[in-house]
Amino acid sequence: MMRGNDKSKELSRRASRRIPGGVNSPVRAWSAVGGTPIFIESASGARLVDADGNSFVDYVGSYGPAILGHAHPQVAAALGEQARKGLGYGATIELEVELAEKIGTAIAAAEKVRLVSSGTEAAMTAIRIARAATGRTKIIKFDGCYHGHSDGLLVRAGSGGMTLAIPNSAGVPQAVAAMTSVARFNSLESVGGCFEANPDGVAAVIVEPVAANMGVVVPMPGFLKELAAAARRYGALLICDEVITGFRLCHGSIAEKYGVAPDLLVLGKVIGGGMPIGAVAGRADLLDLLAPAGPVYQAGTLSGNPLSVRAGLETLGLLSVPGTYERLDTLGARLGNGLADALKRSGVPGCVNRVGSLATMFLGPNAVCEADDARRSDTARFATYFHQMLERGIYLPPSQFEAMFVSLAHSEADIDQTVEAANQALGALAAA
Ligand SMILES: *Cc1c(COP(=O)(O)O)cnc(C)c1O
Repeated sequence: MMRGNDKSKELSRRASRRIPGGVNSPVRAWSAVGGTPIFIESASGARLVDADGNSFVDYVGSYGPAILGHAHPQVAAALGEQARKGLGYGATIELEVELAEKIGTAIAAAEKVRLVSSGTEAAMTAIRIARAATGRTKIIKFDGCYHGHSDGLLVRAGSGGMTLAIPNSAGVPQAVAAMTSVARFNSLESVGGCFEANPDGVAAVIVEPVAANMGVVVPMPGFLKELAAAARRYGALLICDEVITGFRLCHGSIAEKYGVAPDLLVLGKVIGGGMPIGAVAGRADLLDLLAPAGPVYQAGTLSGNPLSVRAGLETLGLLSVPGTYERLDTLGARLGNGLADALKRSGVPGCVNRVGSLATMFLGPNAVCEADDARRSDTARFATYFHQMLERGIYLPPSQFEAMFVSLAHSEADIDQTVEAANQALGALAAA
């Protein structure tokens, strides 16, 4: 069975003429795996259909938002209804209050919430609040973590930056980049080093509590708690970036599940139910630094957009059904264990990292605890694996350094089909 891709090829040529690199976000390009990206025509549940009519089991899930699967009927109906009431008014609506309340009920640390239009904005705003609150300028981030594309956070950044080997973006002034120190995930020693270099100068440390932008990397026992303690010791704030993990790994904050109380939280993706959104949340005294309550300026024409907020509320409502996160974990475990077995059977070196419905199979290293481990992956081999899977109807993120996202719409049969495809693909790799 050969997959037709004439239409995707034609669209790709057209896109490249008018859109830089042919994409509106670099992670959508197939730079790391080669070939012509498929153009999506539609999606429903766990499946995508491309412009040439091919169907795939989807593990990109819009890079996180599609936790219910695509085009959930209840979310789609709510959006239709909301659209007929107007797309935005430049004034506050009840649904914004409801979403802030819902987030605040689920997350103890989210005493107050400011909605924005993207995770990038939310992370940028969290940093600005932290600097205003502490009167300090330095921030600490982790190699391989991604917090959106604002200047100060594009230092040793994960996601597309890692995939394309441009972790430090051109166009970011050296003076701005110099305000960011980089620690190694899971290394308290490197965190201590960053603090000791500026004992009175660090405004905040920002971390993905479960890292998912260098592939999935799990925090070692005690790492997050010790990190929080170090931040407190040095008078810095702890910002947990839960744009991916928030409401994906539990009904709220995974940092809180690990026993950590962040000063500020960054949310996005799932809380918008597939529509553009971001949120900065946290201690009331910190959030009240934001204008008009306080002196930290932040604004947005489409912040708290009615469609985003409505889709988010519907999604969080559906996720609050008991058993939801157990179901996601069961599906994630079936996938993670199946992939680990497939690796072992094939003899191809590598490992699988998984938490709940997030998983990455690294080809090469036998353990990945931080970005340098991830970088030891055999990306050429991953590219071959990616195309082997695609030919078997499985759509993976086109990078070794992204998570696979499982949704509630995936069935056991979908997972088993995926594992069987991986067995064949890895078998082919081992033989090559
Ligand atoms: C996706 C992501 C962001 C950026 O969110 P956008 O909505 O793409 O701007 C920030 N932090 C993390 C952890 C993310 O995964």
